[in-house]
Amino acid sequence: MRSTERRPAVVNKLARLRRTIARWRAAGETVALVPTMGALHAGHLALVRLARRRADRVVVSIFVNPAQFGPDEDFATYPRTFAADVKALHEARADLVWSPAAADMYRDDFAVRVVPEGAAAVGLEDAARPHFFAGVATVVAKLLIQCLPDIAVFGEKDYQQLRVVTAMARDLDLPVKIVGAPTVREADGLAMASRNVYLAPDERAVAPLLHRVLKLCAEKIAAGRPTAAILAEGRETLERAGFGLDYLEARDAETLRLPAKGRPLRLLAAATLGQTRLIDNVAVP
Ligand code: AMP
Repeated sequence: MRSTERRPAVVNKLARLRRTIARWRAAGETVALVPTMGALHAGHLALVRLARRRADRVVVSIFVNPAQFGPDEDFATYPRTFAADVKALHEARADLVWSPAAADMYRDDFAVRVVPEGAAAVGLEDAARPHFFAGVATVVAKLLIQCLPDIAVFGEKDYQQLRVVTAMARDLDLPVKIVGAPTVREADGLAMASRNVYLAPDERAVAPLLHRVLKLCAEKIAAGRPTAAILAEGRETLERAGFGLDYLEARDAETLRLPAKGRPLRLLAAATLGQTRLIDNVAVP
């Protein structure tokens, strides 16, 4: 019987994960990995569906990775909804949920970190969260080596992360194709995110402005208006609405360096509303 008719297997020991994937491989099946920190929403499930279409077997990892949280961040309170996640993954027809214990991922004497450069050091998320990309790259490298998937799917929602992971796989010769998936949004444009549950009702009402401003800026820049002036306007609109702005920037869509003429552009923003930090980005058409 194909596992799509059963609940996904929940696995938390590496030996069992490897045995299961080896069995699939022996049967000639391809494997996709979708790394997550759980608290799944429709954005995560769209990644799972994309993976489902691209591979015979889909592994979804659920691991709230302590290494990517700073000392003042929300690791302890990050939303954890494991039972509901497994149910949603059953409906999305995932084959296996990989949920290792933190003590197994990081032994007491854990001593190797992957510290990415390039897109991880361009003054966007890395400026606000200096610990973040080494934490992400280290855990994603481990997950990729544990599962050895044909493809791994990441959301464009975390655009800088997608660029960093793509470069890591390329630079470390990891035999995996990194696939980006479009951002899934609420009806009012707000990018879905596990942390959106932190937003108070008045903050939730203002939150969609972040995407609206990004889109408007992108349209104006595409129409040939001067980038610097358009971004300055956008920053002012967000700050007037009560956002604490970390950045609103136009960057080279691939390297995330300052844009050069004739290269595809991406607009990226991060801002806080009260205690909640939102990030979003759009392509310049
Ligand atoms: P997280 O659990 O927040 O670490 O996210 C796991 C994966 O889901 C990452 O590749 C994210 O980029 C992706 N993701 C999160 N939110 C969305 C969204 N609204 N649309 C598409 N992908 C998303």
